[in-house]
Amino acid sequence: QSPVPQDIEIARSQTPKNIANLCNELGLITSEVEAYGTAKAKISLDVLKRLGHRKDGHYVVVTGITPTPLGEGKSTTTVGLVQALGAHLDKIAFACVRQPSQGPTFGIKGGAAGGGYAQVIPMDEFNLHLTGDLHAVTAANNLLAAAIDARMFHENTQTNKGLFNRLCPAKKGVRTFAPVMFSRLKKLGIEKTDPNDLTVEEQAKFARLDIDPATITWQRGLDTNDRFLRKITIGQSATEKGQERTTGFDICVASEVMAVLALATDLKDMRQRLGNMVVASSKAGDPVTADDIGIGGALTVLMKDAIKPNLMQTLEGTPTIVHAGPFANIAHGNSSVLADKIALKLAGTDGDDMEPGYVVTEAGFGADMGMEKFFDIKCRISGLVPNAVVLVATIRALKTHGNGPEIIAGKPLPEVYSQENLELLKEGCCNLAQHIANAKKFGMPVVVAINRFTNDTDAEINLVREMSLAAGANDAVACNHWAEGGLGAVDLGKAVIKACDATSKEDFKFLYELDTPIEHKIETICRDIYGADGVEYSDLAKEKIATYTRQGFGSLPICMAKTQYSFSHDPKLKGVPKGFKVPIRDIRASVGAGFLYPLVGEMSTMPGLPTRPCFFDVDLNDEGQVIGLF
Ligand code: ADP
Repeated sequence: QSPVPQDIEIARSQTPKNIANLCNELGLITSEVEAYGTAKAKISLDVLKRLGHRKDGHYVVVTGITPTPLGEGKSTTTVGLVQALGAHLDKIAFACVRQPSQGPTFGIKGGAAGGGYAQVIPMDEFNLHLTGDLHAVTAANNLLAAAIDARMFHENTQTNKGLFNRLCPAKKGVRTFAPVMFSRLKKLGIEKTDPNDLTVEEQAKFARLDIDPATITWQRGLDTNDRFLRKITIGQSATEKGQERTTGFDICVASEVMAVLALATDLKDMRQRLGNMVVASSKAGDPVTADDIGIGGALTVLMKDAIKPNLMQTLEGTPTIVHAGPFANIAHGNSSVLADKIALKLAGTDGDDMEPGYVVTEAGFGADMGMEKFFDIKCRISGLVPNAVVLVATIRALKTHGNGPEIIAGKPLPEVYSQENLELLKEGCCNLAQHIANAKKFGMPVVVAINRFTNDTDAEINLVREMSLAAGANDAVACNHWAEGGLGAVDLGKAVIKACDATSKEDFKFLYELDTPIEHKIETICRDIYGADGVEYSDLAKEKIATYTRQGFGSLPICMAKTQYSFSHDPKLKGVPKGFKVPIRDIRASVGAGFLYPLVGEMSTMPGLPTRPCFFDVDLNDEGQVIGLF
């Protein structure tokens, strides 16, 4: 029996301080905060203007070794580390984390507020609804989905002239273009501002997007694990005149709108990215964007509050910014650029007499995925330069990499994971070593956080520490924040402070340059980070590379959609697999968000519910409090 109570019990036993007090402590002014209840507030982007002159605080990314399906504690360590820095080491320290999707919260994985005595509170509000950002993403996603089908319907049922007249209706005898239409006119090379001046041919070109239904990539979205929506037929009512089409739903965190929210650098930039999202090709093979459909402005309006990051707190009252939660495979799996930017200014300094604070941001999946994307996509877009990497490792996951038996979620853990076994552990440290070497390729110092579980022995911890240092880590520290809160991560905090002090911003480098061919970028990631011998492209992937290059998207960064359970494409290959080539099945584009994503194998974008989902445990008690969330 663990002496540590259930997550929700711990979370509920601590009353969060009023969010207004936290805002005061952080130096936020009243006009910059909008409270949502007493424990959450949205932070205005105006902070960035007011504090623009400040030098940023230290920027630390938390990532992990190749995980087991149980998770190795990245979120828990992110929270534990800021509790240590903020509540025990007298530093200003922010955690920046993703907003979880309701799908996994009610499905298999549970919530994502951390765990034990290292959590964001109130954890029920953190895991469900928050301030409605996910609902805004869903609304924007589905407005666009509806617009695509409606537009095709109208184009299919009207003449060119009728279509043009309806797109630019005459009001009191005057015909005008809606402002959003000018981007389409520009794209078509029509330099006219008065609709009356368009020739009949120009009217037709302008009015007909001529979407090829087979090329539509935009799906409907929902924040629920609803497997029966993976493939659906729409347009079955007689009112749609036989225009049926097969499509599907994605879980809404897989929507490109979510990736845009995470990567936008300000409102204007978000407007541009939303408008640039490519949803299909025309029958002539040209990309059709949200702005072609006339919807970029409306999407931005739906997202105007969601762009403001959400402030919450840890169990020990230190600030946490929760914002955006893009998928970690078909998207980049990192929280928002704006959350990090705001935190870095709030933790920043006005002059030499102020000490910079710390911003600890989490990257999803193992370091081969989340960390690489953090550097090559998120930092590239934000222009922010990180100072240090914290690599979370657990003894149990390292044993799986030393050929320990498979760990399956929902099944009892095999015995080796609760007994000392130095051989398995030593063998498995190769995985840790490879991740350390990878982080160093970006010029980053690495602190290994050995996330301690109750059964781990001192001899095991010492072995991991030795192996980490031998592999080139700057430090390796055991931490026990899950059982002890921030106090259990004080040594980790000290090691992170030391690593940040030892780095210079000039040390940081990207893995690849953007203006190299798509194939070169993919191959660099596969060889240098995954340790592959090379890459094998399907014919479809080759075709897509040619298309994206022709369409001018060849200089976007690459966001690999690969399993997190192995360096390779095969989740069964543990440790450091050798002698494999990465098969690229297809390549897709999130042009608005700003990356191309090669698909390695099948990627599910709509999870299902298991026979025994987490929601069985969730209820309200007699006091109206949420029980059963973890
Ligand atoms: P990740 O972010 O890497 O997916 P989490 O931080 O969400 O991992 O942790 C996964 C699960 O493991 C959570 O339920 C968390 O409470 C639990 N956990 C994390 N660290 C420990 C620990 N040291 N001992 C016991 N349980 C832990």
